[in-house]
Order: sequence, then C-alpha cells, then structure tokens
Amino acid sequence: MAKSRWFSKPAGRNGTTVSNMPEGLWVKCPRCAEIHFAKDIERNLRICTKCDYHYRLHANERIALTVDDGSFNKIDDHVVSRDPLGFPGYPDKLARAMSSTGLTDAVVCGEATIDGRRCIVSAADFDFLGGSMGSAVGERLVRSMELSVEKRLPFVLFTANGGGARMFEGLLSLMQMAKTSAGLARMERAAVPYIVVLTDPTMAGVYASYASLGDIILAEPGALIGFAGRRVGNQDMGMKLPDDFQSSEFQFRCGMIDQIVHRRDIRNTLSTLLMLFAEEDANAQASA
Ligand SMILES: [Zn+2]
Repeated sequence: MAKSRWFSKPAGRNGTTVSNMPEGLWVKCPRCAEIHFAKDIERNLRICTKCDYHYRLHANERIALTVDDGSFNKIDDHVVSRDPLGFPGYPDKLARAMSSTGLTDAVVCGEATIDGRRCIVSAADFDFLGGSMGSAVGERLVRSMELSVEKRLPFVLFTANGGGARMFEGLLSLMQMAKTSAGLARMERAAVPYIVVLTDPTMAGVYASYASLGDIILAEPGALIGFAGRRVGNQDMGMKLPDDFQSSEFQFRCGMIDQIVHRRDIRNTLSTLLMLFAEEDANAQASA
C-alpha cells in the first residue's frame, strides 16, 4: 500500500502516533493478544488484522482520515482552559498534555470538505487528559455549532472523551453539558444537521450531553460507550450486567445508536449523509 493519506503523522505532534498503541516494531492487540508488526496495523487504518479491534486515533489522525486532503481549516485553537479553581497540579497537567499531544485542548475544530461537501468537523483526543470536557472544549464545540448555523453547514463530531467532564474545573466543567446541549438546540431550531460519531471511549458527562444528541448517531465497532462504568452499574443495580455492557453493539441493541460503522466505511457513510442533507436543504430553501 502506498503511503497512507490517513495516517501521515499530523503536523505539530511530537508523541506517539496512536494513543493506545506503544511505539516499536511489534504491537500486541489488547483484545485478541495477537502480536503484529506495527507497520501492518498502521497500514490497516490502525485496526487489528485478526480480530478487527479498532485502536484509538488521535484527533488530527481522525480528521486526516475523514476530510479531503488539505481542506481542513482549524478554528478557535486559541481558546484554552485556565485554572479557575486553583486546583492543585492542574496547570502542570495542562502543560504536560499540551506538550505531549501538540494540541491546545482536548478537541480540534475546523471547517472542511468531505468528498467536496462542506461541513464543520470536530474531533476529540483521548490523550489530552482523557479527552475530558473543560470550559475550552465546551466553548470550542459551541462556537463550531454556531458557525454551523451561521453558514448552514452540517456539524460532524467525533467523540473520544473517556474522562467526561473535567473534574479540575468543577462546576464550570459540568455546565458545559448544558451549554453544548443548548448549542445543539439552536442547531435543531435552525434545521442544521448534527452527525456524531462515537469512538472509544465515550463516557460520563460527554455521553450524557452532546454525544447522545445527534440527529444521526454513528459508532465505531467495539467502542466503550456509556455513562457510569461497569463496576458502578453492578453496584447500583445489584445484578450481573451483560458481557458487552456499554459497548457500541449493546447501545445499538438498546436503540441508542443509528448505525455501527467500520472505520473503513466512515468517510463514505458521512459523504452519503452530507449529500442527502444538502439535497434536503436545497429543496427546503427552494420551497421557502
Ligand atoms: Zn486483535
């Protein structure tokens, strides 16, 4: 396979290329324990060639996989979290996350095209403090939503927020749940579509707000998706939970996800959805 357009190392990164894949010649699949050449997994879109396990992607890799080459214009990268509560150690954690990921917070936003169709795209990065939602993440997402409404462009969002709300920012972090939900309500009133793709992991306050509010909700196979963790669920309900509890497949069975889409097919699926939405919007505008 020629040099992959998907996974050329993103500019500005100085760390590993896959968040849960150690660097080296060999990698061991966390699901099936098969040992692979790292290059083979890289060439296979970071998917295990034996069991189809989807390794996590960095935000910049996710965007590169999804949008047309050279079409991504990053926005609001200057919106950063501060330390409003004086939480011990938080400034150092922020600085380390910035240094190790090359990002300024846990979500990257911008305008781009997918198969030539314009949209606003955001992707979260688990390696930035677990992808947790602080004030800057919430503010960036709401600005993306407002830009979607202003330009009448669909908003495509990839989640990867295992941390949920960011505890170091306390209530200011929790209020991002309401703020992003209000932003999506404005999108709904303006009839601008919101497509969310849930990737591993999507948990807690993020799942309880914008991650579960998509007009279309897609998910990668085998992703961890839910609110509280399995141990909390076991304790709360006092019953043994299904083996695939809080997986994409479990949530799909429960009606919480519209479609599970293999990483290889996500770009084409988004392209089709954007085409359908564009046709619908054109018809609506014409008849208005
Ligand atoms: Zn595997």
